Amino acid sequence: MKLLVQKFGGTSVANAERIHRAARRAIKAKNDGYSVVVVVSAMGGATDDLLDLAGQINSNPPRRELDMLLTTGEQVSIALMAMAISAAGHEAISLTGGQIGLITDAVHTKARIQKIDAERIRKEHAAGKIVIVAGFQGIDETGEITTLGRGASDTTAVALAAVLGAERCEIYTDVDGVYTTDPRIVHAARKIDRISYDEMLEFASLGAGVMHSRAIEFGKKYNVDIHVRSSLTDTEGTLITKEVKQMENIVVSGVTLKTDMAQFLLQDLPDDPGVAAGVFASVAEAKVAVDDIIQTVGDSAKASISFTVEKNDLAECRLVCDKIAKQYNIKSVECVSPVSKVSIVGVGMKSHTGVALTMFKALANAKVNINAITTSEIKISCLVNPEQGEQALKAIHSAFELDD
Ligand code: ASP
Ligand code: MG
Repeated sequence: MKLLVQKFGGTSVANAERIHRAARRAIKAKNDGYSVVVVVSAMGGATDDLLDLAGQINSNPPRRELDMLLTTGEQVSIALMAMAISAAGHEAISLTGGQIGLITDAVHTKARIQKIDAERIRKEHAAGKIVIVAGFQGIDETGEITTLGRGASDTTAVALAAVLGAERCEIYTDVDGVYTTDPRIVHAARKIDRISYDEMLEFASLGAGVMHSRAIEFGKKYNVDIHVRSSLTDTEGTLITKEVKQMENIVVSGVTLKTDMAQFLLQDLPDDPGVAAGVFASVAEAKVAVDDIIQTVGDSAKASISFTVEKNDLAECRLVCDKIAKQYNIKSVECVSPVSKVSIVGVGMKSHTGVALTMFKALANAKVNINAITTSEIKISCLVNPEQGEQALKAIHSAFELDD
């Protein structure tokens, strides 16, 4: 029998009316002949409220107890969803992560899924029920309750779709799909019909993700078609799917702008083996996540290394850089903050030429200076001054003819 996983995010179950609306979707899918699994998040804002409450009680709550607390958010939604389906005259059953045998490692608040036992869900489907599953949670081998990290109900949904061999995983959210860029900044942004997993992963790492990146990784690994769409309308959203030849005809799928970054520049480092390793050992030790890294070597046999980090790691990173400066006896550690990064993403880049030129020309015409450039196989990024970020975004978006 064909099977569908539908995931409803916090805004899509934020009140009674929306829960009824979501329930009607699940019932419609059932009437269309599907076995249905509904995965839900906590009601909009509920997880934040619980975290806030925990903070008022204990500024550093035990992680096990945080998981115990946070999982209640999803438990509220599953029960209400099952009641809504029952009120509409259909059979449903709500189940926690533990009840469906979603086993994780024991790392509280950011556990990873190890296995899912599909038996219970299959049994309930065989009895004709719509199965409602709490997202974001599981249990470890010893039965302790765990959570999978913020936003991870998406991951629960895609993992279930993979294990159950679902036809696809529908992600219902408050936007109607993935756009060529942020429509709040560029009004001419267009909804993308189809996008590859890799492009979507780049979008997510550039802060433009509608979805949790681990969910996309799961989708890619197990080849699950993911349909991101609005819970408030019936319009088609965006299909995240495996890369096909015709996707390469589109040179650039989207343009992103990441703000609130900081750039560090270490100059006059010795140009010797082991220096970069030494620098980034210190950075890693401080648990600072590094974004793009650039090293250049001048004719004086000195190297400079620059790298970007999230702005909230700035203070921590400054301390680390001072330590590095002492270690290598260098004077200048420069820090520019904030900086913005504009990027183009597209699998078509692999087979088209002149892509970088189009991007740089667009920036030149808009009189935007480029402070640094980094690339990957399907992405080109430029660091720009934050005051010019939006202008840069618009110029590039229209240069690649992405405007509606
Ligand atoms: N409720 C959890 C959160 O807010 C999980 C989710 O919504 O995906 O992070
Ligand atoms: Mg969410």
